[in-house]
Amino acid sequence: MTLAAAQPVTMLPSVDDRHRDPRHYPHGVAFMDGQYLPMSEAKISVLDWGFLHSDATYDTAHVWEGRFFRLDLHLDRFWGGMERLRMKIPYLREEVTEILHNCVALSGHKSAYVEMICTRGGSPTFSRDPRQSENRFIAFAVPFGSVANKEQLEHGLHVSVSETVRISPKSVDPTVKNYHWLDLVKGLFDAFDAGGETALILDENGNVAEGPGFNVFVVKDGGLRTPAFGVLPGITRRSVFDLAAETNLKAVAEDVSRADLSGADEVFITSTAGGIMPVTRVDGAPISDGTVGPVTKRLMDLYWKKHSDPAWSTQVSYP
Ligand code: PLP
Repeated sequence: MTLAAAQPVTMLPSVDDRHRDPRHYPHGVAFMDGQYLPMSEAKISVLDWGFLHSDATYDTAHVWEGRFFRLDLHLDRFWGGMERLRMKIPYLREEVTEILHNCVALSGHKSAYVEMICTRGGSPTFSRDPRQSENRFIAFAVPFGSVANKEQLEHGLHVSVSETVRISPKSVDPTVKNYHWLDLVKGLFDAFDAGGETALILDENGNVAEGPGFNVFVVKDGGLRTPAFGVLPGITRRSVFDLAAETNLKAVAEDVSRADLSGADEVFITSTAGGIMPVTRVDGAPISDGTVGPVTKRLMDLYWKKHSDPAWSTQVSYP
């Protein structure tokens, strides 16, 4: 079909209005291509390799009651990811810090989910050589979001373990926070089909790996264990290790089998999107007596208390 014979653009079926309506986007402020924008106007080209190939790295921090939580650790991970993917942005770390603070301050959110992204971008000559791409930096602040809702935080999540295997660390470096989520999303659909509320997927050896946006811990005989292999080293996971050290709890990163999970005294998941979140059922069966356990409760309490500690958090200055 020639271009002239193609349907005129005005006759294309109209797009559902919701897709154009700024109210469809959460209220927030983004920074891209050198300017601050309302969330609804922050858009990238479909030719950006970040979109076409998931060729991107990112990090998500959160702000709670007006304070960033462990932003330095998120910046370390983001910079490490860009280095490993051979990406560069035209901003220094202090400038990115300022941009993130500005996004939050301009949004007015006291509790926010704050993302920084570097995409491969594209080459001005459409070269397929990634070395010729101009990398793109984007940041935004939107309202805080959580993996678990209020009810689930109180009574625990029901997790289903999917047979889906997380992409091998030999293929995609899991220490680089990335948008390779097809395995995690498949795991989520498997979990929904099995009656679960969220998913855990496996590593290539059949052990438990991680879930869509979270790490997992088991508590057994007072000690903590979280998978070591093929997972993102989460900042919340790191916070659990730091809290465990402060409170003389033993915590190790090593293989967690499916039997370790179902036979645990307590299970919880960890994410910047929600913090430490209890799991009280796995594959339909209760963990211990099916209520949120004492170690999980204590860690949840300590974790949220650290949000006002200047050693763990920094104040945003709002206009
Ligand atoms: N694992 C994956 C695959 C993730 O995407 C995330 C966060 O988005 C996590 C774990 C948890 O990491 P963090 O605690 O840094 O939010």
